[in-house]
Amino acid sequence: MSLWFSAWQRFPLPPAGVRCRMVGRSRRAEPLLLVSARRSCSTGQGEVRVRFAPSPTGFLHLGGLRTALYNFIFAKKYGGKFILRLEDTDQSRLVPGAAESIEDMLEWAGIPPDESPRRGGPLGPYLQSQRLDFYRQTAQQLVESGHAYHCFCSSQRLDLLKKEALRSGQTPRYDNRCRHLQAKQVQDKVAQGAPYVIRFRLEEGVEPFQDLVFGLNRHEVAQVEGDPVVVKADGFPTYHLANIVDDHHMKISHVLRGSEWLISTSKHLLMYKALGWQPPAFGHLPLLMNKDGSKLSKRQGDIFIQSYQRDGVLPEALLDITTNCGSGFATNRMGRSIDELISEFNPSKITTHSALLDLDKLPEFNRIHLQRRIEDEEQCCLLIKDLQREIQQVYLAEIQDRDVLQEDYIRRVLLLRKGHISSLKELVGPLYSYLWVRPSFSSQQVAALTAEAQLVASSVLKLIEERGDDLSVDGLSKDLKTVAKQATSTKYKDVMKLLRLALSGLQQGPSVAEMMASLGSAEISRRLQKLLPLPDTS
Ligand code: GLU
Repeated sequence: MSLWFSAWQRFPLPPAGVRCRMVGRSRRAEPLLLVSARRSCSTGQGEVRVRFAPSPTGFLHLGGLRTALYNFIFAKKYGGKFILRLEDTDQSRLVPGAAESIEDMLEWAGIPPDESPRRGGPLGPYLQSQRLDFYRQTAQQLVESGHAYHCFCSSQRLDLLKKEALRSGQTPRYDNRCRHLQAKQVQDKVAQGAPYVIRFRLEEGVEPFQDLVFGLNRHEVAQVEGDPVVVKADGFPTYHLANIVDDHHMKISHVLRGSEWLISTSKHLLMYKALGWQPPAFGHLPLLMNKDGSKLSKRQGDIFIQSYQRDGVLPEALLDITTNCGSGFATNRMGRSIDELISEFNPSKITTHSALLDLDKLPEFNRIHLQRRIEDEEQCCLLIKDLQREIQQVYLAEIQDRDVLQEDYIRRVLLLRKGHISSLKELVGPLYSYLWVRPSFSSQQVAALTAEAQLVASSVLKLIEERGDDLSVDGLSKDLKTVAKQATSTKYKDVMKLLRLALSGLQQGPSVAEMMASLGSAEISRRLQKLLPLPDTS
């Protein structure tokens, strides 16, 4: 049986007979994850329920999107539920709009939660600030069973402890002084209205646990930390308490989260034990880093999902690039859709190495996914609508011919440019302005043209007339070659240059044949007519 699914059935340790091998400094069970894709979602104990639990202290960034994505893929692969829970207990650090935006971004990315603050669900509410009663009850249970206690230490005392530890070169930690208060002392202080926090009593002798990615793990927390606060003076729980209470009540089967939480897991398991609760299985995902191995910093600002959305990056390209660099797949290939990601996902392939993200490749991912969208009729219609909006925004007053906003015209442009452009926005940039507005020429420029150039223009006009609506790029290329051959004193290259200039006002761009194929015969004629001298009306 695979480890993921033995863990799913809640074995805290590798089943007997499972060999362990060293992975880095941890031990990992082998054979790992022969995931027998169990696709149907059974009820009760066997149901796969995973969650993404960000704190709305900032907007969704690439690291968060990746954690959400692995949870989403895992839920979909095994017929389970993907839950979004917002951990907003640190009220002082909340960023206005972040909670809404995180859910918006998951929806935009195409990985919507099944249960969430917005969608609701059977085990809600999904916002921690609305679940304070759960935490209060659990904290009380911990205090009553002797696993937690009131701490009245003032912030001055805690500061002093910290300073002393630092002075003597030690890691600051609470000295657990209030553990030893008598029940009567506690009662009196509470009655006097003395401010307090609740601390969890860390026991020594932590049992090892089997992390689904990092293998056998154990952090003897009591030896390195003082007893942690689980309820703050304002009555709000800290992350550690709220997180395990919610995972328990929301019946989470697997906790898949960033590896920065690996060292907290022993502490969480001590809390589960104190409460007599069955813990979920834990799998910690390796960190997402820059391609040079440096930290992906939120401060760069450019890793926020909203900024990709604004810049025209397709969500499927973003999902593809964040999984391409990481683990969880037997092979890596570009261009996977979310459905392909789900079917190719294999959790046993998640390694402990950091995932190195090469954002320079993002345009290439976007190009591939944009091409797929253009080739899909339904998606293409949506792209056309987006482009119509963009063209009007960018070229509003300059558009001389409203036909450029026609669906058929835009579809033709998209089909001709697919595979060449990395973003829809490129099409409204200066390189493609000729598609929407006519280039302008001065009369001097036209007057400077040689007689041969004018001959070329009139030959092309003639061939366009003959071709009618049959403007295939291949056919046009052939005709253009024939026309160029007829020009005796002008080279092929210069003929093309002249035509490109007349059609687009540019020196570079797609092939002349493609430009012609996208513009259509009426527009080609209109533009090439300008190369011809005005008829003498005198
Ligand atoms: N609120 C935590 C975070 O933002 C959740 C960690 C977890 O998934 O347990 O990272």
